[in-house]
Amino acid sequence: MRTENCDVAIIGGGSAAFEAAVSARQNGAARVVMLEKAPEEEFGGNARYSHTGFRFVYSGPNDIRDIVPDWDADEFSRFHIPAYTEEIFKNDLNRVTQGRINSELADFLVRKSNSAVKWMFETGIEFEPEKRREIEGKFYFEPGIIVHTVGGGLGQLLRWRQIALGLDVDLRYSSRVTKFNGDFRKIEGVCVASGDEDYNLNAGAVIVCAGGFQANAEMRARYLGANADLMKVRGSKHNTGEILRALLDLGAKPAGHWQGAHATPIDAYAPDGGTPLRQDGHSNTCNRYDYTQGITVNNLAERFYDEGENNHSYTYAKTGRAVLAQPGGTAHQIYDQKGINLFRLGAEYTDVYQEANTIAELATKIGILPAALEATVDEFNSACQIDIPFNPGILDGRSTVGLELPKSNWANPIDEPPFRAYTVTGGVTFSFGGVSINTNCEVLDVADQPILGLYASGDIVGLFFHNYPSCTGQTRNAVFSLEAGKNAAQLANQ
Ligand SMILES: Cc1cc2nc3c(=O)[nH]c(=O)nc-3n(C[C@H](O)[C@H](O)[C@H](O)COP(=O)(O)OP(=O)(O)OC[C@H]3O[C@@H](n4cnc5c(N)ncnc54)[C@H](O)[C@@H]3O)c2cc1C
Repeated sequence: MRTENCDVAIIGGGSAAFEAAVSARQNGAARVVMLEKAPEEEFGGNARYSHTGFRFVYSGPNDIRDIVPDWDADEFSRFHIPAYTEEIFKNDLNRVTQGRINSELADFLVRKSNSAVKWMFETGIEFEPEKRREIEGKFYFEPGIIVHTVGGGLGQLLRWRQIALGLDVDLRYSSRVTKFNGDFRKIEGVCVASGDEDYNLNAGAVIVCAGGFQANAEMRARYLGANADLMKVRGSKHNTGEILRALLDLGAKPAGHWQGAHATPIDAYAPDGGTPLRQDGHSNTCNRYDYTQGITVNNLAERFYDEGENNHSYTYAKTGRAVLAQPGGTAHQIYDQKGINLFRLGAEYTDVYQEANTIAELATKIGILPAALEATVDEFNSACQIDIPFNPGILDGRSTVGLELPKSNWANPIDEPPFRAYTVTGGVTFSFGGVSINTNCEVLDVADQPILGLYASGDIVGLFFHNYPSCTGQTRNAVFSLEAGKNAAQLANQ
């Protein structure tokens, strides 16, 4: 078997991998090789299917203006951008993970989030404003998420590729890493399968950015519980977990929630593997995240979660699992015209829905008992405290009263026809179980010692538990990959 040499080898071809490669080059690694398992036409991992919004710390409009300098000044002046502080971001991470997130890594992510996004911008990645709601002439965003990359995830990847190739990064498609050379004390390189050929790639350092195991049905069934093998995969079909397994075999320490995964409500008729983006990359056409402005019922016409618990960005990643746990693994988001008019600007809904002038007629169209849905809607409508002022831009406290399962905010009666139902299921985005790293992004072994020469970033790092504040994945990639690239380059140059 032939052997090649490089300074830094990177496993993966997603956004974490590109960021690590560019950082390694910027920090002095001469020969950087990226090994992407997917063929060129499918490169890029999960970002390819996302619009890639970023959650990061900012002090207010001026801080955001830095990275969208050309956005129309009049429109920008109408953006409502209160500061998203380190404290708020940290609290969000702690709250949604039920206090289980590694505090040191969370602090590191939060503290470096702003500078990592600015680094991306300075390196050549372009941003534009996120989805927003217009309320009385002002535009309201989900807290912490004001921008996504121009052209969505694919736009970001194409730009990263251009930047990486401009820095002479050696990007190899259809190159599957099959094994690590070395042991839990020191990694010396990897073995690569490319077409009919296997070869060794020796490296001064290896950065693992191979994603989660969510596209492997056997691993989903094994780790994520009953019928998780039936989940639809929202992103890349290439994230099949073999690198994660190889790392565990090597003696890497597991971290994160191994029975947990990011799973969201998506169109029940979405394809399995790679849900489509709108052409401009702005939005995924299968996402169904405006449930805060209606109610969701299962096939028995029962509500089963608090649709107004918080902004969707704090609840959507656990809602997919809740949907999958319902009879038949599907549910129906029910809206009236008031709710439909409040869908966020830019949120793309296909015409796959049912519409009717009465709730009973709508129930018949979606195959649930008309009397049961009428009863649920009537009970909900009478429980809405309409004397509390309604404001979809904030947590308005307009809750239901007297229901066993409340809707805690934005409780508006569903009474303006035509009514609409979107049938949803749960789609898996990425698995939460991964490997343990320190704030140098070195992979730790089961004795908490760094495995020399081995770094990790992205979904393969075990970080989240139970739930996830939306748009943290991309920021985590930038923060960890920037650091991993820097440290790997330094080690390789020693
Ligand atoms: C539909 C969708 C919408 C999303 N929206 C957002 C959002 O708006 N904001 C946000 O922050 N996050 C979002 N996410 C999550 C985010 O995209 C991921 O967290 C992030 O892309 C993970 O990056 P990664 O580089 O770690 O993994 P990936 O992008 O999944 O890349 C993993 C790479 O490893 C490669 N690979 C796997 N095995 C091997 C092997 N054996 N050898 C070589 N290469 C291998 C894969 O081919 C792939 O290129 C979304 C995800 C999806 C699917």
